[in-house]
Amino acid sequence: MTLPTARVLTVAGSDSGGGAGIQADLKTMLAHGVHGTSVLTAVTAQNSVGVQGVWGLPGAAVEAQFRSVVDDIGVDAVKVGMLGSAATCALVADLLETLPPGVPVVLDPVAVSKHGDALIDDDALDVVRTRLFGLATVATPNLDEARTLAGRPAATDQAGLGHALLALGPAWVLVKGGHADGDPTDVLVGHDQPDRAFTAGRDDNAHTHGTGCTLASAIACRLALGGDVPGAVGAAKAYVTGAIAGGFALGAGIGPTDHLW
Ligand code: PLP
Repeated sequence: MTLPTARVLTVAGSDSGGGAGIQADLKTMLAHGVHGTSVLTAVTAQNSVGVQGVWGLPGAAVEAQFRSVVDDIGVDAVKVGMLGSAATCALVADLLETLPPGVPVVLDPVAVSKHGDALIDDDALDVVRTRLFGLATVATPNLDEARTLAGRPAATDQAGLGHALLALGPAWVLVKGGHADGDPTDVLVGHDQPDRAFTAGRDDNAHTHGTGCTLASAIACRLALGGDVPGAVGAAKAYVTGAIAGGFALGAGIGPTDHLW
């Protein structure tokens, strides 16, 4: 067995049901053969039917976890997921600014769960827009998040939304189209880059809890292993497509994706 050499940190929320959040991130990292570390920002009471409770962790706990990991173990890529409050978003931006130069950051601007439960406060979106986007190597909003963050609620053109969000400062934006009709296509835009579309055949498997977390983590893993952004996105899309194909029923609602395919 080869021991992992790359280290990937997830800064995100816990999903007690094990389908999304930190739990999906660490499973994705294991599947990619990298060492996963975690900074918990919030704890959710959650299962296949919804989110029953959310508790943000104190800033001191978020900061202490981050320093423990980065100052000793080190980090080759970071995935940022659910942050919850404006204060946590601002703190995480401060902490990301202390990373050594060149560490890629994949920002999944998680806003609402598949069940419609809010996972971020309204005033936090401003901090995501004004501070976190500028620190991201790749931001991975879905269509709804992209519309909200770009301030274009009716816009449907993924590339147009991506270019609007590039102005907030990330190197790349991947606008995910999984909730749109037809074969799910994600559009990757970068500065002075051709727009790239990544399409997978539509899979009607309903057990898709945790797909966004899984995709962003898989991109971070590929970047930690030395890939470039378009290559990392393509490989991560293939990984999440396999994970959706193997998604399985657990509980009465939406089951998790599969990480062992
Ligand atoms: N719970 C946590 C802690 C998350 O981070 C996320 C998404 O990032 C979700 C739930 C939502 O997952 P889904 O929309 O796949 O149900």
